[in-house]
Parts: sequence; C-alpha cells; structure tokens
Amino acid sequence: MSLPVVAILGRPNVGKSTLVNRLAGARDAIVYDEPGVTRDRTYQPAFWRDREFLVVDTGGLVFDDDTEFLPYIREQAMAALSEASAAILVVDGQEGPTESDREIANWLRHQPVPALLAVNKCESPDQGLIQAAQFWELGLGEPYPVSGIHGNGTGELLDDLVGHLPETREIEAIEEIKVAIVGRPNVGKSSLLNAFVGETRSIVSPISGTTRDAIDMVVERGEQRYRLVDTAGIRKKKQVEYGPEFFSINRSFKAIRRSDVVLLVIDAIDGVTEQDQKLAGRVEDDGRACIVVVNKWDAVEKDSHTIYDYDRTLGSKLYFMDWAQRIYVSAMTGQRVPKILDLVDQAVEEHRRRVSTSVVNEVLEEAVSWHSPPTTRQGRQGRIYYGTQVSARPPAFALFVNDPKLFTDNYRRYIEKQFRQNLGFEGTPIRIFWRGKKVRDAERDSVNRATKV
Ligand code: GDP
Ligand code: GDP
Repeated sequence: MSLPVVAILGRPNVGKSTLVNRLAGARDAIVYDEPGVTRDRTYQPAFWRDREFLVVDTGGLVFDDDTEFLPYIREQAMAALSEASAAILVVDGQEGPTESDREIANWLRHQPVPALLAVNKCESPDQGLIQAAQFWELGLGEPYPVSGIHGNGTGELLDDLVGHLPETREIEAIEEIKVAIVGRPNVGKSSLLNAFVGETRSIVSPISGTTRDAIDMVVERGEQRYRLVDTAGIRKKKQVEYGPEFFSINRSFKAIRRSDVVLLVIDAIDGVTEQDQKLAGRVEDDGRACIVVVNKWDAVEKDSHTIYDYDRTLGSKLYFMDWAQRIYVSAMTGQRVPKILDLVDQAVEEHRRRVSTSVVNEVLEEAVSWHSPPTTRQGRQGRIYYGTQVSARPPAFALFVNDPKLFTDNYRRYIEKQFRQNLGFEGTPIRIFWRGKKVRDAERDSVNRATKV
C-alpha cells in the first residue's frame, strides 16, 4: 500500500465510524445504533488539502473487560497500528473521560506512532472547548473538540494530522498527458498534429494504442510528455478508400474515452456544426478536460469586432461546455499554436485538482447566505448540511442535504455557478451530486458509480 494509513482507535460508541465516514467524505455516514455491531476492518481513502491517505477503523477497543474477546480485539488494534503512520484516539466529549479511555491512552502513549486526540460529540463551539479540556489528563497532547455528525473541528484535526504523515508522491507533475485531437474531416487535425511534432523537442517513436490500428504518438516538451491518442485515426482519411465525407464518429468517441484532455478542432470558416456539438456533448458526458481550438483563423476576414462577435456566437452554440477555453489559431501560419499546449497543461491541472472540504463549505455558506434554497408551498425548505469533493478527473462534489427533491434545477445551476466563480476549474467539467441524509445502499452504489469517470 503506497498511501499512509491513519488508524482510528477508541472504545465502542464514541463515534469512530461516524468520524471515519466524515474524514473519508466519500460516503454518507453509516451509523449503527446497537453497540457491538461487527464491522469489517476496511480502508477508506481520504484526502485533506493536497494529501491523500487511508483511514482504518479498528473497531471498538476494550481493555477493562475480561471477556475472551479481549486479546483478539487488542490484536486487531495492534495490527492496524503497526502499519499506521498516525493514530487518532476518539473519545466521547459528552460523557467525559472514562477508565477505558485512560487505559487505551496509556497503551497508545507507548506505541511508536504519533497519536492525536479527537473529542467527539462536541457540537456546541463553547461547550466543546470545555468538554475537550477535560481530556488533557490523558496525556496525548491537545484534545481537539470535533463533531463527527456535523463536521465541526475536523479541519483543525486534519491540519495537524497531515503534518504527521510522510510525503507520498510527487509523480503527478510529470505523468504523461493523454491528448485526443478530434473534429470533422478537413478542419486541420493533421496539420495541427504536424505543428505539434515540429514544435516539441524530442519525439518518441509511435506506440501502438489499445485497439489494433490505433497508433499513439508521444512527444515531449520540457519535462512534460504528451501522448497524442490515435494519430492513425487522424490521418486515416488520407487513404483513398474513405470518401471525403467519411467521418468515423465512433473512432472519435473511443479517442475521447482514452484521453485526459480533448482538443476539439473547429473550422473557423464553417463555425460550429451539429457534428461538432455531438463531439462536444460526448466530451462533457465522459468528463474529459477540453480546449476548443478554432483553426484556420488566418482565412477569416477580420475587422475590429470580429473576434468578439465570433466568439459569442461560438460560445452560444457550445453553451453546455462554457467551461472550456477557446483559442483561435492557424495551423498553416503557426499563429498561437504553441499556446495550445499551455492551455492543455492548465486544463489538465484543473481536471486533477482537489479542493479542501473547508473551502468547499465556505463557498457553500456564502452561496446560501446570498440566495437561500427554495421553500415548497407546504413550507419545507431545502437545507445543505455540508459538501465535499469526492473525486477528481473530473472534479466531483457531494452535497449532503436534507432532501434532494427540494432543490430545483434553477437552484442547482446557481450553486454550480457559484462553484465555478469561486473555485475556478476552467477547462474541465465538474459534477455535483445532491445526496439526501439517508441514502439507501442501492442508491448510494449508483451514486458512487456515477462519480467514477
Ligand atoms: P463507534 O462504535 O465508535 O464506531 O461509534 P458510532 O460511529 O457507531 O457512533 C455511536 C453513536 O454515537 C451513534 O448513536 C452516533 O449517532 C453517535 N454519534 C457519533 N458521532 C456523534 C457526534 O458527533 N455527536 C453526537 N451527538 N453523537 C454522535
Ligand atoms: P484533417 O482532415 O482535420 O486532418 O485536416 P487537414 O490537416 O488534412 O487539413 C485539411 C485542409 O485544411 C488542408 O487543405 C489544409 O491545408 C487546410 N488547413 C489546415 N489548417 C489550416 C489553417 O490554419 N489555415 C488554412 N487556411 N488552411 C488550413
């Protein structure tokens, strides 16, 4: 396992699993009220700021009970701890320190792993500090008042936690970027491809792609590698057996599927056609980053209004991907061609970017205070409890709300707009999932599937 592991310890019923779900963020909290329910020891992926880690719930730890299970449970906790980079001991702030808490803390102090103390069930900020203060006696340093149910305090806890985790990987920056160049025949795809090949320094020989005749070409610029997906498809129409009108949309769809970022090439003379819209729609559905490349700009007669008017018309035809940057180039003269790869780099960075939960919630709070969620005629109002980013490529967010049905399309668009304005993500589609408080398993699974792109 390459990611650092964080073990969550504590006696039963202090709220460990609630907290794990909160930290992992990807699922709605699943809480069982009966004590002693068996749970699997599962690793849940979590992240905070730019750090990723795994959270493991060790199950209830009991020291002062001499049942026959005692050694077993202790063994489980030891096993979890032996592979952990840090531990969080969870205690119950409403109940105060108990004998079991003291025993676990005592034991934990002698383990070679940094341990933090989370005082759970501290919903009230003022009370919370007082409740937390009682736990200094455990000797594990500063007690953090948190609420697994509502989320308060978890930001401070996580800030401290990630400081204890080892650096994991810096590979992200030099990972190769898969670029698909798509567009109708004759828009200038091969000309652009040639321009890239001329512009980039070293060219690695063609590599076969996943399907039989799909040839990828890898080029490098500085440290960055770009895999140009299915270059054979781009050149195909040069072969005589295809008429000039032949256009394999399925081949384009496959290339989009295999890419990180799509260069959607449009012919400046023709403007956006129905086929271009179809390709754009697929890019958005597949969750790929995209740059709209308007080629043959040299051939358009210009006056001072041209680019402004032109861009507005083009934007309105591609209104469903208003997040994509548009660039006006000429593969023939080379005008602005080098800038395309700069935009590719930016779009890919946004596509992979993660935003911390606290920032997401600041944006949500601000948005809701300007414009509160709708109320039904019966007086029921939508409430957003909190939001968190659940995945990247493309960035996806889950908003936990009282009832998704209370949020109209209008309001959803408003929130999406606020996300865009405040969080950026230029160049990539984003997804927002509205999740009710009690999500049934089946529904949850389908949501989880939908977020995987
Ligand atoms: P675990 O046995 O330690 O994993 O505890 P659970 O996560 O199953 O939670 C035990 C009980 O505590 C449940 O009834 C939860 O609803 C409740 N609980 C968990 N977190 C909080 C919290 O932050 N505040 C309050 N008031 N109750 C909580
Ligand atoms: P593909 O079918 O999309 O690969 O398009 P090609 O690269 O084969 O280009 C089709 C035609 O458009 C060729 O005759 C090119 O010379 C021409 N063309 C490509 N790029 C430009 C450009 O930037 N300006 C002009 N005026 N013509 C271009």
